[in-house]
Amino acid sequence: MSAGSAIRVLSENLANKIAAGEVVQRPASALKELVENSLDAGARRICADLEGGGARRIRVLDDGAGMSRDDALLAFERHATSKIASDEDLEGVTTLGFRGEALPSIAAVSKITLTTRRAEDGVGTQVCMEGGRLQRVIEMGAPAGTEVDLRSLFFNVPARRKFLKTRQTEIARCVEVVTRAAMAHPEVAFRLRHGDRTHLELRAGMDARGRVAELLGKEVGLHLLALSGENGEEFRISGWAGAPTLSRSGRDGQFLFVNGRPVRDRLLVHAVYSAYHTFLPRDRHPYFVLFVDLPVEGVDVNVHPAKEEVRFRRASTVYNTVREAVTRVLGAPPTPRTLRVVRP
Ligand code: ADP
Ligand code: MG
Repeated sequence: MSAGSAIRVLSENLANKIAAGEVVQRPASALKELVENSLDAGARRICADLEGGGARRIRVLDDGAGMSRDDALLAFERHATSKIASDEDLEGVTTLGFRGEALPSIAAVSKITLTTRRAEDGVGTQVCMEGGRLQRVIEMGAPAGTEVDLRSLFFNVPARRKFLKTRQTEIARCVEVVTRAAMAHPEVAFRLRHGDRTHLELRAGMDARGRVAELLGKEVGLHLLALSGENGEEFRISGWAGAPTLSRSGRDGQFLFVNGRPVRDRLLVHAVYSAYHTFLPRDRHPYFVLFVDLPVEGVDVNVHPAKEEVRFRRASTVYNTVREAVTRVLGAPPTPRTLRVVRP
């Protein structure tokens, strides 16, 4: 056996490609990261154009803050972020992103052109990357904001490409990503197109209910019951529960947000179902749109690479408050705990 070391530190490019395995599983996950970056940049209008189910092309255009030339380059470095700087900041994250991993991960597995300009700069910057390698940086006239044009996702990861589903399925996942972002941000205009078909066109300035009704359809909108609940200063829940008559055979009418972040959380889902259980047969599923808002220290958002899961500090309180609020709005028979015995 030879002396010396068998362990080596991976190149940054390879490390990014590995990270991409967790962060970018399919076109919709890349789209999610790009839309979240646009929201974090304060965009008021976000347009996404897809081709080939998103695998061939995803272009996201925003009118947000834009980046300086230096930042446009730094954005592709691993763990480079403008959103946190210290341990304390990590405890108090209020932006959707904070890991500084999305752009380098996406860039490692695609061909990407980022064009950006801050309103205060006379000229913009365009950065081209291919498979994580910088190809070109040029000065360029551009509207204020940022455009990310991502092509040939997974061109250098054939294994990943093989796992992509049909174009229709990938498009549906992309629609879901924008739907979730749009529900949490009725103040932002969104458009999603695939080829020449427009899947979503949402104008800004609607109230939250109007936005939800537009996304789920008028008929559903008419049967959403507004719910709210709170636990002192600790947290607040709001949103809508679908009338039981509105039930579906699948779970695709369900939307959960924690501090504005779309999440999939089994605890919250279970809390909602436990309120519906006397109303729905087992094979039927309710519609619901639920926003849980709590102080940042009450929830850990850094438990999942794509930030789709969270961990609550006081999970059982959250669970009970959600269940009670949904129960109340459905007009369910009172739970045993609140039953009073009335003697004749
Ligand atoms: P994170 O969002 O976790 O900070 P990203 O890799 O997604 O990491 O982005 C890195 C940085 O690039 C962000 O912190 C932000 O400063 C900048 N950035 C990315 N996208 C945009 C955008 N659309 N507009 C303005 N700045 C952006
Ligand atoms: Mg990000």
